[in-house]
Amino acid sequence: MKFYLSSKQGKSARLKTSATLVLAGFILVGLVTSIGIYTVWGNTMTDKHATRTSNNWRENKFVNTSIDYSTNFKNIWEVGKAFFTTKRQTPLPKKALPVQSITREEILNEKNDVVYRLGHSSLLMKVSEKIILADPVFSERASPFETMGPKRFHQSPISIAELPDVDAVIISHDHYDHLDKKSIRLLDKKVKRYFVPLGVGTTLQAWGISTTKVVELDWWQTQSINNIDITATPAQHFSGRGLFDRDKTLWASWVIRSPETKLFFSGDSGYFDGFKQIGERYGPFDLTMIETGAYNELWSDIHMLPEQSVQAHIDLKGKAMLPVHNSTFDLALHDWYEPLERATSAANQNNVKLLTPVMGEKIEIHAPANYRAWWREQVEEEKHSQFALTKLIPANNN
Ligand SMILES: [Zn+2]
Ligand SMILES: [Zn+2]
Repeated sequence: MKFYLSSKQGKSARLKTSATLVLAGFILVGLVTSIGIYTVWGNTMTDKHATRTSNNWRENKFVNTSIDYSTNFKNIWEVGKAFFTTKRQTPLPKKALPVQSITREEILNEKNDVVYRLGHSSLLMKVSEKIILADPVFSERASPFETMGPKRFHQSPISIAELPDVDAVIISHDHYDHLDKKSIRLLDKKVKRYFVPLGVGTTLQAWGISTTKVVELDWWQTQSINNIDITATPAQHFSGRGLFDRDKTLWASWVIRSPETKLFFSGDSGYFDGFKQIGERYGPFDLTMIETGAYNELWSDIHMLPEQSVQAHIDLKGKAMLPVHNSTFDLALHDWYEPLERATSAANQNNVKLLTPVMGEKIEIHAPANYRAWWREQVEEEKHSQFALTKLIPANNN
């Protein structure tokens, strides 16, 4: 895109205009961080054979199956405008959200087939005597910066120090709200295996993680730990941690199957026909953990609206659905509690069993409880609260 100035404008006017454009560009790009694009240098991936031979690798980047999602000036402008003009009642909770603490003993003594939501898309599962973590983010912010970027609404129900050894860490993609360098580094001595989409292993390697611990998979590929099959499945999204690594690593959803239990974890995704395919191949699922948050009509190609999340669960042939990717970070333009409210209505209309535990509250996969609508209590309490969120969240919860 070119910008033309009239001949009457002098050099200083041109400089001023250029500076304004550069500044506007920085602000807009900064705003777009909320949908996963960041303005820092990222890792560049090595040209590995597995990547080059992947069906999802075209002309030097990974691609989606049914859309071509690219960020151009027009959509950056529209997103930027929306960030400036959208009026929100309650983007953030005014006080920390309720959390049920978990101890190492509790996890070790717990029977199989339980899931705990730790925050955002971070999940702890105990299946067939193995402990599995998905997208573990324990840091205070989902950001490349320690002092800037979306700050969490609540403490983690368990610290990294308190966690027992972890048999597998599963990563959906390399965005900051799913793959957190600090958390991975602190966790690493407890972790036996990482399951990551193609290319993400290179990022882990750059952070000092031993390659012998990393299993990189393309969509539909499976690796097992004992009797648990872990399969990378499609998602409709994008990747990148910096300006120059856009779509250089793959994004995925995951299927986890033990002899007793079948689980689905969506990672981040727009609504697409992949959910039906996954449902046909691996469903029905005892529990689906599906992104329900950080959505907007402007970017619904890569993040589902809550009604679409519920439809994805139906397509997957899920028995119960845990909405994730909400209630920890403010990454979009909706009120913090809206994803749970809209998902609840959509679930009720479609006869879907929706699980809404507070963070850290146990889910028994084969006999899930009816959880209360805790966010409504929070909203009600906040009407009378004078607390600022910042006063209730310690600076570091690792
Ligand atoms: Zn993402
Ligand atoms: Zn995300």
